[in-house]
Amino acid sequence: MHRTLLCAGRESTYAVIERVLDEVTELFSSPWIHLGGDECPWDAWSNCDSCQTSISRNNLRSIGTLQYLLTQQVEMTAASCCYRYIPSAKT
Ligand SMILES: [Zn+2]
Repeated sequence: MHRTLLCAGRESTYAVIERVLDEVTELFSSPWIHLGGDECPWDAWSNCDSCQTSISRNNLRSIGTLQYLLTQQVEMTAASCCYRYIPSAKT
């Protein structure tokens, strides 16, 4: 497991995820995608100014809630790419 994560507090992260899913769509024909995230180490987000700002600005309770919102966005993006996703266990 990598300790370096995409920043959950930056809008640009969502654009990166969308581009990655677009490329995955072109490479694989399966209608299923595993999004993962259940082993996500939160220490990077705990020490990130952008993530902490996002938590404060959106009145989120915790890093877990920030991950939940990121996961929801990724699920919606995956669904818009016609994927059925296998959800993460941890949120
Ligand atoms: Zn961050």
